[in-house]
Amino acid sequence: MPESLEQHYRRLLGLEEPWVVEAVKLELAAQRVEIRLQAELKSGGLKCPVCSKGYGLYDHAPERRWRHLDTMQFETLLVARIPRVNCPEHGVKTIEVPWAGKNSRFTLMFEAFAIRLLQAAETVGSGTWLLRLDWHSAHQIMERAVQRGLERRQMERVRLVGIDEKSFGRGQDYISLMSDLEQSRVLEVVPERTAEACQELWTRLGNEQSRKVEAVSIDMWEPYLKATTKAAPQAQIVHDKFHIAKHLNEAVDQVRRAENRQLRRQGSDLLSGTKHVWLKNPQNWHQLDRLKFEALRSSGCKVARAWQIKELFREFWSCFDATEAEDFFARWYRWAIRCRLAPLQTVARMLKARVANLLSYFTYAICNAMTEGFNSKIQSLKHAARGFRTFANFRIRILFFCGRLNLYPSTH
Ligand SMILES: [Zn+2]
Repeated sequence: MPESLEQHYRRLLGLEEPWVVEAVKLELAAQRVEIRLQAELKSGGLKCPVCSKGYGLYDHAPERRWRHLDTMQFETLLVARIPRVNCPEHGVKTIEVPWAGKNSRFTLMFEAFAIRLLQAAETVGSGTWLLRLDWHSAHQIMERAVQRGLERRQMERVRLVGIDEKSFGRGQDYISLMSDLEQSRVLEVVPERTAEACQELWTRLGNEQSRKVEAVSIDMWEPYLKATTKAAPQAQIVHDKFHIAKHLNEAVDQVRRAENRQLRRQGSDLLSGTKHVWLKNPQNWHQLDRLKFEALRSSGCKVARAWQIKELFREFWSCFDATEAEDFFARWYRWAIRCRLAPLQTVARMLKARVANLLSYFTYAICNAMTEGFNSKIQSLKHAARGFRTFANFRIRILFFCGRLNLYPSTH
């Protein structure tokens, strides 16, 4: 006996008891297919969605519609009135349906497809357009996906963590970002770069996972340090080598600016236009930079001395082990402190006060360079987020695109 259209659609949808397809309505003008579903109820067999106890039918909820994957070029909707049970403990409840999550206007299969498409699309805007979704619906799908992913992530072990700040929006707005350095993923993001912000990052990770973190890469920023030591006292602190290089670069630049001012008063523009020479890695110097540098060095200027101190510090990270590094640091420190260049001395003292957190690098060779890799993605999300009213929306997108979460709904 040939299969009826209803049976055909039931099989396509993979529906099981008690669900059957009652009717399939094709609206040619609207380019739409409506599939009407119905629960064929025998006595009992319905479950309270809270306690899973079985009950008979109480009544049917008002009609609802879910957008499903398109049928060819036709938008496809599922339509049903979901049965309700009357549970003495939980009251009147609609039963769970196999094709959609609670409160969603989309089927699970549509959501899975939307997630895949949004992730592959160049921008959220183009993905939303391809899916013929409005902004709000696309956001809700991403939000539910992130929620699922975060719940699943709670079971995973996070060993090596990086905490870093990123600028957000105009001017002085910052966000704090926690990442998993082993798996190259963003774990969480919160506004501001205060001790409270850092504390919030740890709270969101959860006590159990926080206590299992072995090492944290972090700047020498006191508020972050305090909050981290409190939330994960067992974790080794490793000061991020790129932040240290930044501090040293800034010290060199301060020396340059002061010396440049002084020289100009004396009528010399020896240092004008040399800023980039001192900040660049010598490996990236052009021939012209090299010539300029040699001339400046032989002139015995202060900034050349500052530069040498900064450059020498690079070697710290290539030491064989902590013992050798400790020895190297002591020599470097003596030199830096005797150089009579105040900005360099300040950084040297700061490093000495935290030398244990520098030497820990030789146990855990971690740094925040990985989170720098998220910068361009976060920047582009930020640009697309110009219309965003809240930080919460921005967070969902960061976690959706950079969180490496298991986002997909489990379909039955
Ligand atoms: Zn119940």
